[in-house]
Amino acid sequence: MGKVRIGTVWLGGCSGCHMSFLDLDERLIELSQVAEFMSSPITDWKLHTPIKEYQDYPEVDITLVEGAVVNTDNVEVLKIVRERSKILIAFGDCAITGNVPAYRNLFKVEDVLNSVYIEKATHNQHVPSDRVVVPRLLGKVVPISHVVKVDYFLTGCPPSADSIWYTIKCLLENKQPEFSRENYRYG
Ligand code: SF4
Repeated sequence: MGKVRIGTVWLGGCSGCHMSFLDLDERLIELSQVAEFMSSPITDWKLHTPIKEYQDYPEVDITLVEGAVVNTDNVEVLKIVRERSKILIAFGDCAITGNVPAYRNLFKVEDVLNSVYIEKATHNQHVPSDRVVVPRLLGKVVPISHVVKVDYFLTGCPPSADSIWYTIKCLLENKQPEFSRENYRYG
């Protein structure tokens, strides 16, 4: 049997979930013996946001998606990734609930942009119009399940390395992860 194909995606998140993935430490070696990383910001820095980098997202068995959906690029990336993933996991609380990025839902988009790029800017005060610099923000930040079907929800801010390992191991062994308090918690 060939290796399981895994991808990870970074939308509107702080990268903490990916850092937790790296906390698998020596288990990454074990994982690399049965799985292949097809696409991940861990292995290619360009895969943070630019939509064009995701046009070539490969067909994979499992994708973990970190972060909430905050802009129009995130929506497009997520749809591409969903189409090409057999199993899609909402990876961490931002992907599941919106979490920290969703704090901005308390304000209007224009007010947020003006505050960041004009009122609090110390030089070059203007809201960037180039989509590569700031993709168009959605009116509201939403969890990824509002855009695509999600197969599993891996809670935590970030999820612990142990819960990531447990979930991936179950899926590699064709078992359903058990959503017990021990393995899954918010925050
Ligand atoms: S869930 Fe927490 S660690 Fe993960 S991206 Fe969101 S804020 Fe960062």
